[in-house]
Amino acid sequence: MRTGKIIDIECKCGYRLFRYYKAGKGRLIKVMISRLTEDYVGLQGAETHSRPQCPNCHKEIGIIRMIHGEPALKLNQGRIQPIRI
Ligand SMILES: [Zn+2]
Repeated sequence: MRTGKIIDIECKCGYRLFRYYKAGKGRLIKVMISRLTEDYVGLQGAETHSRPQCPNCHKEIGIIRMIHGEPALKLNQGRIQPIRI
């Protein structure tokens, strides 16, 4: 049985940032960029350690880190809408 689902991640300002396939349950801490199904911010190709911003309100939404050799966005929890799964 599949436990993952597609979720929308929104900025606190209400702007939709990504659509993401999340595997498993629990809080979303980081986003593997290769697993984004929609990317409204332009994370593909972002530099490691860069800090992407919400295109609407220009607040930082996290930081790009390499996790297990793959680029991921570690979310700034204070800047995104809470996600419940
Ligand atoms: Zn925003």
